[in-house]
Amino acid sequence: MKILANLYLWLNGKFTEETHSLLVDKGIIIEHLPYPVPEQYKNIFQQDFNGAYAYPGFIDTHTHSFEGGLYCSGVDLSKVKNIAEVLELLSAENAKKTKEEIIFAWQMDETLLQEKRFPTVQELDSAVPDKALLLRRIDGHSCMLNSFARKQIKELNTKNEVLKGAENDRAVRHFHSCLTDEEIIEAYQVSAKIGLQGGFTSLHTMIGDAHNSITHYELIRDNLDKFPLRFILYPQSFNISAALDAGAKRIGGCILADGSIGSETAAISEPYLNGNSRGILYQSDEFWQKFISEASKHHLQVAVHCIGDRAIRQINNVYKNISATEELRCELIHCELTDDELIGEIAVSKAVPVMQPNFDLLWGGENGFYAQKLGIKRSQIMNRFATILQAGITITGGSDWYVTPLNAMQSINAAINHHNPQERLSLTQAIDIYTKNAAWLNFEENITGQIKTGFQADLSIYSLPLETETSQLRYVIREGEIEYAER
Ligand SMILES: [Zn+2]
Ligand SMILES: [Zn+2]
Repeated sequence: MKILANLYLWLNGKFTEETHSLLVDKGIIIEHLPYPVPEQYKNIFQQDFNGAYAYPGFIDTHTHSFEGGLYCSGVDLSKVKNIAEVLELLSAENAKKTKEEIIFAWQMDETLLQEKRFPTVQELDSAVPDKALLLRRIDGHSCMLNSFARKQIKELNTKNEVLKGAENDRAVRHFHSCLTDEEIIEAYQVSAKIGLQGGFTSLHTMIGDAHNSITHYELIRDNLDKFPLRFILYPQSFNISAALDAGAKRIGGCILADGSIGSETAAISEPYLNGNSRGILYQSDEFWQKFISEASKHHLQVAVHCIGDRAIRQINNVYKNISATEELRCELIHCELTDDELIGEIAVSKAVPVMQPNFDLLWGGENGFYAQKLGIKRSQIMNRFATILQAGITITGGSDWYVTPLNAMQSINAAINHHNPQERLSLTQAIDIYTKNAAWLNFEENITGQIKTGFQADLSIYSLPLETETSQLRYVIREGEIEYAER
């Protein structure tokens, strides 16, 4: 038999229930073969997986990879216990940087600090006196700047030390726009590496300022083949003509219908526990009606961030009235707080909830953060994976990385171990939301998302079944190429 350069066999992997081999040509699975393979295949290049467990290459359908990559080279505040520790880390970073460089700090959760508050600007100045510092809250919906950074942003019209809403956006936008093309591409390279290490072959990623600009969308679109992992791009903007000019087939991402539970800006129908606030709807019904109908007229798949029930209903009501919602697979990003009635309404609109199992892992449960903000009763109707699936709605999984970790195994386990037993997914369902359903969201259900003849050879391979705590990622294979191998 003639040996083609591109043709090879993967042996001895548990690709389904049992061990067998895959014959791959030019990145496509062309045959399932037994293990060991028949004599005529013996001369083909072979890669032995030693009985490891193979899954279709995992796809994370919602990330902010640019920020994730950029901040990973900055100061991680996820483990700090008090303000002194925050300042100590910032001081150490300050000592490493030149005057022109910006210091990015992220993952700060003030509710986990002993003081239960953000640092003051004065405290930040004591650690970073003469360089720009941007410090983001874990959910990205609030941030802080030191005095040096505040002076650089002319449009900043507030005395508030913690910036939220439009001020938060303005501050973040300013510092992201100071970067060179090389620095931007480098941020994506870092995130591609972290994505592979997390077991992913593809990441849906948001690019744009969530207002009028699609920022560096075209730069990344033109450099897609430079990355070892596949990025699926969302022009995260309200600018329909810019998205169309850039050749996008979708628009949106975390363009905000509301804010977050942490910042008490998620729009909910009953007030938060501590006070009268019901959060914020950032735009009017008319605004969304105009934007979504215009985008769908141009056949753009629309994605909108909506966390609270009021915001989800606002967007879903528009989706319900747009006949193309089903055909375009329009997205409800996060879709966190939903009672049964709202789930029924989503089943009618045929919109796609793009959901985050890690949110429940981090903030669910009777003593969790959601229960503190909303009370136990409402915390139990958050992130309702199982109920939503049972209603016949297709959902997909995403991490919202940088907000939560980029790790397929952790996310899938979060979905099967939901704090609320009624919302737990089976292992197969949990895998599907990161494979089959995720491929479907990108209109690629016939070429990826399954280990099947005729499909791309995209595989995430683990030492043991995913639900086993000690399982380790061994390989990530994208279109037949080994992009990650455990050392
Ligand atoms: Zn969001
Ligand atoms: Zn997001």
